[in-house]
Amino acid sequence: MMKIAVIPGDGIGKEVMNASMLILEKLDLPFEYVWLEAGDEAEKKYGKALPDETLEEIKRCKALLFGAAGESAADVIVKLRQELETYANLRPVKSFKGVKTIHNNVDMIIVRENTECLYKGLEFGVSEGVTVGIRVISREASERIIRFAFELAKRDKRRKVTALHKANVMKKTCGLFRDVFREIAKEYEKYGIESEEYYVDAGCMYMVMKPNIFDVIVTTNMFGDIISDLAAGLVGGLGLMPSANIGEEYGIFEPVHGAAFDIAGKGIANPTAMILSSAMMLRYLGFLDEAKRIEKAVEKVIAEGKTTPDLGGKLKTIDMTKEILKNVQ
Ligand code: ATP
Repeated sequence: MMKIAVIPGDGIGKEVMNASMLILEKLDLPFEYVWLEAGDEAEKKYGKALPDETLEEIKRCKALLFGAAGESAADVIVKLRQELETYANLRPVKSFKGVKTIHNNVDMIIVRENTECLYKGLEFGVSEGVTVGIRVISREASERIIRFAFELAKRDKRRKVTALHKANVMKKTCGLFRDVFREIAKEYEKYGIESEEYYVDAGCMYMVMKPNIFDVIVTTNMFGDIISDLAAGLVGGLGLMPSANIGEEYGIFEPVHGAAFDIAGKGIANPTAMILSSAMMLRYLGFLDEAKRIEKAVEKVIAEGKTTPDLGGKLKTIDMTKEILKNVQ
């Protein structure tokens, strides 16, 4: 049996995790699920958002399914990504049939650096009314994430890798990222993989106007966070976007959305992002057939308009999940 850590966390994290587990449990997988606590509620209960026992237990598992953390996100998921060295955050962005948006054939994958940049937590107050935050960009981490993006393009037969940066303003940090990108891009020319660069602001405009110019995108941590929500808006919103955090030895799978307290407890959260995140976990662990069954079922249910209100439907989380369940079998 493979041990899988499960942290529902806060807000809608719990609701979408329950939905996702209903689907996984139908699939007869050789998994033992280890339910753990982390997030705002855990902090209230144990005085620590990521209790030591939770972290120790996670490390004994093969992968982690994570719902959402509220205010304590920086102490939980950001810390987990660093602790488990899951340096690559993968966010596929694909149009769904049946979801009305400005573009209907978006298909890109965002590869976001996950361990450094402004997320290092190096923020200080230097004097009354003045604060600073330090952005860390290293050659080692840049090389690792850029190579990951090109390897992914090679493996999945994608045609182009685009780097988003702001090297004209952040000359040292983004400058280093850009230089490393250019070096590695040269190595992959022989595989027919193109490379391209945009300043992140212009990249955002193009993402809205002509998203088809993007295939694989690689970028630093903070930009990656922002552009993936922008990209979510292109295909129907955060309720649809899964993600994977991959390292040499560990994978964390979580929806791009957070705790969404505005809709928590109402039973209307779209379970798609979490369910597709669990499908990404199955792919990572080598259960490709099962992953495809889940993905197909989700696509069918969405195409038929059997959705939660964020996509214009009338179903509750549990009803949409039941529709998906029917199609998985
Ligand atoms: P974070 O800062 O951690 O990303 P947040 O709580 O600020 O989290 P999100 O949870 O990312 O914000 O979501 C932003 C908004 O998008 C929510 O307030 C909610 O209205 C909507 N949303 C997010 N996820 C879902 C979902 N699964 N189903 C429906 N609507 C969602």
